This record gives sequence, C-alpha cells and structure tokens, in this order.
Amino acid sequence: MLIYHRSAPGRRFQGLGVMSQEQHDLDLYTAIFNASGDAIIIQDGVRFMDCNDAAVELLKYPSKAALLRAHPGDFSPPMQPDGLNSHEEAERLVALALERGSHRFDWVHRDYNGDDVYCEVWLGAFKWKGRKLLRATIRYIGERRIAEQRALYQTEERLRTLIDHLPVVLFSLDRDGVFTMSEGLGLKAMGRRPGQTVGQRIFDVYPNDRHVHAAFVEALHGGNRIVMHEVGPITFEAQFSPLMDTRGAITGVLGLARDITETREIKRRLDHLAHHDVLTGLPNRTLFQDRIEEAMRRARRRRLPAAVLFINLDRFKTINASLGHAVGDRVLQTVAARFIGALRESDTVARLGADEFAVLAEEIESPRSVGLVAQKLLQSLVEPIPEGGINLTASASIGISLYPNDGADADTLLKNAGAAMHDAKQSRNSYRFFSPEMHESSLDSLLLSNHLRGAVERGEFELHYQPLIDLATDSVNGFEALVRWNHPQRGLISPVEFIPLAEETGLIVPLGEWVIAEACRQARAWLDAGHDGLHMAVNLSAKQFGNRHFVDAVDGILDQTGLPADRLLLEITESMMFPHPEETRRILKQFSEMRIPIAVDDFGTGYSSLAYLRDFPIDYLKIDRSFVNGVPDDSSACTITNTIIAMARNLGLKVIAEGVESAAQLAFLRASGCDEAQGYLFSRPVPAAEAGLLLTADVSPLSID
Ligand code: C2E
Ligand code: MG
Ligand code: MG
Repeated sequence: MLIYHRSAPGRRFQGLGVMSQEQHDLDLYTAIFNASGDAIIIQDGVRFMDCNDAAVELLKYPSKAALLRAHPGDFSPPMQPDGLNSHEEAERLVALALERGSHRFDWVHRDYNGDDVYCEVWLGAFKWKGRKLLRATIRYIGERRIAEQRALYQTEERLRTLIDHLPVVLFSLDRDGVFTMSEGLGLKAMGRRPGQTVGQRIFDVYPNDRHVHAAFVEALHGGNRIVMHEVGPITFEAQFSPLMDTRGAITGVLGLARDITETREIKRRLDHLAHHDVLTGLPNRTLFQDRIEEAMRRARRRRLPAAVLFINLDRFKTINASLGHAVGDRVLQTVAARFIGALRESDTVARLGADEFAVLAEEIESPRSVGLVAQKLLQSLVEPIPEGGINLTASASIGISLYPNDGADADTLLKNAGAAMHDAKQSRNSYRFFSPEMHESSLDSLLLSNHLRGAVERGEFELHYQPLIDLATDSVNGFEALVRWNHPQRGLISPVEFIPLAEETGLIVPLGEWVIAEACRQARAWLDAGHDGLHMAVNLSAKQFGNRHFVDAVDGILDQTGLPADRLLLEITESMMFPHPEETRRILKQFSEMRIPIAVDDFGTGYSSLAYLRDFPIDYLKIDRSFVNGVPDDSSACTITNTIIAMARNLGLKVIAEGVESAAQLAFLRASGCDEAQGYLFSRPVPAAEAGLLLTADVSPLSID
C-alpha cells in the first residue's frame, strides 16, 4: 500500500481537490501514529523529535510537549534489574540498533511519577531528510514480566536454600579454569566461604593437585572424571563434568565435591573385617591368597622365588579340649604374636583357620633361606606359654611350597604347602618342603635326587674296600665294603652325604642291593684267587633292613654270586634295632638261620645295653671310632672300651675296633683282647684293585704308616 502511494503520487487521489496529496498523507500517518497501542518515540540522537499519544500515556507525562522536552535518561532508573547501568546499556543498545537496523530487548522505564514500567522495546533506525533517526516502539509488558520475575525469584530462592544446605560443594569453572561458582555447605569442611574462590583460577587455588588439574582438562574435553582430594584429615571426592550451553557446546566445567571421610572409614573397617581374623587380627585366607597373587607378580619381575609356609600347631586340639577354648584362644594369640616377632616386616603372617597359620616370604635367595624362616618360626614356640598357672609348650609342623616350582597360583601353592605340612606332621616340630628336591637343597646338599636316581644305572657308584685285620695273625682276614658316588661334576662323594638322601627317596633299596651284589661278587673273586677265610662286611640302612623282600634279595645274591653265606657280614646299627625290636629279632633270626653273621656297627653310640643285645642273634660288635679315638690317653674311653670287649667276650661275641689310627691305639686294643681292627693305620678304604694287592702284601702295622 505504502509503496503504491509513493510510486504513483497524485494519480489516484487527483480528484480530492481541497487537500494536497502531501497534506493528506501526513494526516493519515499522524492518525495511524496516534492510534497505535504501542508507544512510539522518534529520536534524533538524544533529542526527542516526536511521540504518539500512547507514549505520553505509558510514561504518564502530563502532555506530549512535556515528554518531548525530557532527556532519554529521565525515562530509566539508574540500574536495570540485572544490575546493569541503564545509561551504559542504553548506549550499547542504541549502537547495536544503528548497526543492525533494528533490535529488540526488554527494558525497565521510569515514568513521570518515578515508578518502574516493564517494557519490551523494538529499536529501529531509519533515514529522514539525510539524517539517521531512531524509532522506539515500546510495549508495556509489566504484568507478565512481574509474574515471570516472581516465579524466577521463587525458583532461585528455593535453589539457593537448597544449595546452601546441601552437604556438598557445587562449583563451576569457565573454559580458562576460573571459578564462576562455588557454593554448598561442604565448603565449611574445606575452610572456605561460598563464592570465595569465584574469579580465581583452579590452578592457583589447588597449585599442587595434578589430579584435579587433569580432571578439569578432561571434563573440558567432554569426559567425566572423579578424583580424590585431601584437605587435612578430610577426604573429598570431586566429580568434574562438562558444562554445555543449549547447543551442546562446552562452555566450562561443572563440579560436585563430597566429603567421603566417614564413608571411607566405614568401608575401611568393613574391609578389614572381611579380610582379617578377629581373634588374632592377622590377615585371613582371602587376603592371604590376594597377597600370594601379588607376591607372584613381584617374583616374576624380580626373578626371585616366593615361598608359602603352611603351619599347623601340634596337638592344639588337646589344649582346647583339656583347658577350654578361652585358653586355646589366648594360646593362638600368643602364637600369632610370636610368629610376627620372628619374621621380617615384609613377610605376611596369616591365620587360615582353627590352628592353621601361613606365612608368605618373598625374595627367596635359596631354599636354605626358607628353611631358616621355618626354623625361626619353630624356634619362636620353644619358650613355654604361661597360661593359668601352667607352662604350655607349643610346637608346629610346617609345609613349604615355592613359587614358581610348586604351583602357578595361590590355591595350588597353599594346597601343596598343606600336603608338605602333613608330611612334616609325622615327625612333629619340623618342616618339610613340598618337592623333595627343594628339601634336599634346603639341607644344603647339591645332590638332586634326580641325579642320584639315575646314578645306579649310569654306573656312578663304586665300592672301596677297607681291610679288616685279624689281630691274632696280623693278616687281612676281610674287608668292609664302603660305597662311593663318583659324581660326574663333583668327583667322589662320601656316603655320609648321599646315604641319608638315598634313604629319604627310597633309592637306598636298589642301591643297597647293588652294594651287596657287588661286594659278594668281589669277595667270591678273591676267594677264587685263593684267599680263603676272607669275609666281606656290608653296611645296611634302616629303610633297606625294613624292606619285606630284603632277606629274599640277599638270599638271591648269595645264590647268584656263589658266595658262602658265612663269608658275608651284615652291619646294622643300634638305632636300626630298637624302634621295632620284635621285627628286628625276626629278621635277624632269618639271617642267622641262613648262617649269615651280623655285626652291630658304631657300637656304644646308641642306647642299647649289652644285656639287651643278648636277646638278638648277633656275632660281632664294632666299637665306635669315637672310643677308639680316646685310647689310650682318655681314661673313660679306655674303661668303656675295656668293658665292651670284656662283656662281648662273655656273651660270645667277637669285637672289631673301628678307626684305629695309631700304634698306641692298636697296642691298647690288642692288650684288651680285641679280635679285629680296622683303620687308617692299616689302610684307608681303597678301590678293589688296590685292595687285592693288600691281600698279598705284609699288612703288619710296622710296615705301613
Ligand atoms: P661305618 O660303617 O662306620 O664305616 C666306617 C667309616 O669310618 C668309613 O667312612 C671309613 O672310611 C671311616 N674310617 C675307617 N678307618 C678310619 C680311621 O682310621 N679314621 C677315621 N677318621 N675314619 C675311618 P665312610 O666310608 O665315609 O663311610 C661312612 C659311613 O657311611 C659308614 O660308616 C656307613 O655307615 C655308611 N656307608 C658306607 N657305605 C655304605 C653302604 O654301602 N650302605 C650303607 N647303608 N651305608 C654305608
Ligand atoms: Mg660299617
Ligand atoms: Mg662304623
């Protein structure tokens, strides 16, 4: 419409006559201007050029002229509700409208009476006669806005109270890490007031907390991160999350921090309860297994084994049953304390159940060092435990498994240590390794049983022979066969080292049979060479002696080698006899029926009396080296030696003296009536070839030594 008028002036309104076209337009626009419900004000800079009736009415001015005389500053309170300076903000909005052509905003005006009037303003710029003018169209929105404001205020108020009483800390940060908010009751525990950190950078507020810095940065990149933050004795858990605007752009970081000190303490206590034994305070099985797993990881890294020791108290049930559970409990507590005292701080002691404890020891240099740990544990129990006026003695049996040798997981290691403990139970107050190899090396022997096992087949054993001298004739009338292990690396190894090992592993049975067979074969050869009257002494061990087939085996060997039974002399020790005297007597009787003579070796070192020996079919006594060693200077050694010889004669036994090293010893023995002698004075044990030479040589002590 307006465009039409302007493009074709005069044509359409030609006939109206009285009024010029211009006058007509002005009238029309003035009417429209004044009919508008919205207030309109035309402004040239800070000067009001025109306004409509609605403007006069809205701002409650007495007349249009009065309004046009006013200054724009008269229309606004000094400050807008959001706290902005009206004058400055008005200047900014005007500049914006001039630049963009038009602009809409909310504004609080001040009317002629000084009351606030809430309005919505459209500010537009237009050109008129070469000048840039402003048109403000103002609509009263007072009621709506007041309702809105009130609602907002109420929400804010509610949020405010909520935040003030929330036992947390709520905070927000802008993209530079500057605090834009910091509220909540939790601030008290931090020693801060609400809003105190606002305006400060998080990096300056927490200069040393790298976790906090990292959490902030991560949240800025869209992540959620929870970090712990300690303030004195108090622990906070702070969550950092991205803060986004309506379009989803990250404008900063939002945070929530909670005081978790108490929760943590409760959790810690529950944790402790779940992982410790109430009675002793020691770690329980669950925790112990965790510790084993950790130790295994460390062991792999350091390449040093770890050991699990499974400990069971001996006869603990008896203590419980006879003295009551209260006493039993106290004993367990004492034992726990003793174990802790006996170990390094890095070792873990745990209670697995009733009277079962366990120890985890790391960085094991050698099986021997674990053996030492076990010994220390046993030693810690030696001192009596005073309970209710009596002194209780405790002892334990310990089984040991090693990682990685004896198991690749905690369960297996515990199970195997338990199995070894059962083995140890048989002798009580002792320890035992799960693998026999470890046990041997723990005894500081380099001899692995695997090695020993193959040694018979590999022919690594050989016999040396030490001559027995008949003191009546001063001639060799026999030999003692003494076994040697010709170890490929270590050379000749003494039986003192490997016989106990062979006994433990059961290898003594085949080894012993080989010794007897070889000795018999050699004796037969010497007999065939014309040395009649010779006898061959062979040592037996307890394990071998107790074997059911032993008698048959000896019988078979004699048969095979063709050695007359009375040429063999079997040596047993006292210690082999007295654990099962009936059994011993039965076996010895079988040998005596086979006409195989028996000697009691190392006589005098055991507990048996001569009277006791009367009940056994025995033929020889071998006086132990320790007595022979003492004669003729040590009077008690002389007395014992004399007594043994005298009583042996009474019982019809022959006497052999072991370890004769000097002529003086020999003279004494001869005078006491000793039958035979053996020792370095005559010859050391030597290989068969050399021993054969001794048979023809003159062995009288004067020509030797
Ligand atoms: P044994 O039966 O008492 O053997 C005597 C030991 O005394 C031998 O040690 C011998 O070398 C040593 N000896 C001999 N004369 C003297 C001397 O004048 N002075 C000193 N200081 N020692 C002397 P060896 O050969 O080391 O044997 C040690 C033990 O090993 C034997 O003690 C015996 O109990 C055992 N043994 C040896 N061979 C066998 C075997 O084939 N089977 C079994 N079961 N045990 C054996
Ligand atoms: Mg012997
Ligand atoms: Mg001996």
